[in-house]
Amino acid sequence: MYKVAILYIALGKYDIFWKDFHSSCECHFLNEMPKEYYVFTDSAEITAQKHVHLIPVENHGWPRNTLDRFSFFDKITDALSESDFCFFFNANTLFLKDILPDEVLPDSEQGFLVNLSWHTDEKKPSDFPYDRNPLSTACIPDGEGSVYYQGGLFGARTKEFLELKEVMVRNIAEDDRNNIIAIQNDESHLNRYLVDKKPLCLSTYYGRPQEWDSPKNPAIIFRKKEDMLGLMYIFKLKDKSFIYIVRQIKSKIKQLFCFK
Ligand code: UDP
Repeated sequence: MYKVAILYIALGKYDIFWKDFHSSCECHFLNEMPKEYYVFTDSAEITAQKHVHLIPVENHGWPRNTLDRFSFFDKITDALSESDFCFFFNANTLFLKDILPDEVLPDSEQGFLVNLSWHTDEKKPSDFPYDRNPLSTACIPDGEGSVYYQGGLFGARTKEFLELKEVMVRNIAEDDRNNIIAIQNDESHLNRYLVDKKPLCLSTYYGRPQEWDSPKNPAIIFRKKEDMLGLMYIFKLKDKSFIYIVRQIKSKIKQLFCFK
């Protein structure tokens, strides 16, 4: 039996995902194991309870709210040290099926790291959205890297999680000093860290966007943020281009009329 720490960020309107995240995680994720939740939030709606610890942090908008995740984790290093494994999940994660230890707990051959990837054989590494800016600490030069990992779900044995966190805090701080933000924010830094590692690589069965058709019955989905938070909220938060709105409206119309 292992102790598992779940790290979760809910800033601004992202707190609306918490209830369903928490209940579905309790129900389906490693449900034999004791879990402690560490919630970094500015929300008045999320309440502390047994096994749910709130860590107040300020809402600094996007991308800081996601990029600063490792310095948030840095605040609770001592508490995390009491767990055997740590997992981070994006706020919009929803568990749909039971997930057992054998499926997601990494071993020594995997460097005790577990990550999620959506990019399979059809994409060439040269097409991955790695950061290519040589001035960024997240840079992965062409020719390096063979898997692109998502930032929305990752875990590790606590020792390796804290090592990863240390490197991320250092690298992101160095980029900050140089006024650089990596192309995919924290995700670029995570990919840089993993470039020479062989983590347990989870497939889309363990996490795919809600709007994808396949795989048919996934264990985890990432709920559609536009539906939950509102199109305009995301548009303003992420400073999206107008094309984004047009694309989203087109996809909504398609959905309504069940076009493929
Ligand atoms: N996040 C948040 N508030 C924000 C932006 C991000 O709480 O205003 C947190 C939240 O946990 C979210 C994660 O940071 O799931 C990643 O955010 P982002 O929207 O960048 O993720 P994406 O789904 O676009 O990968």
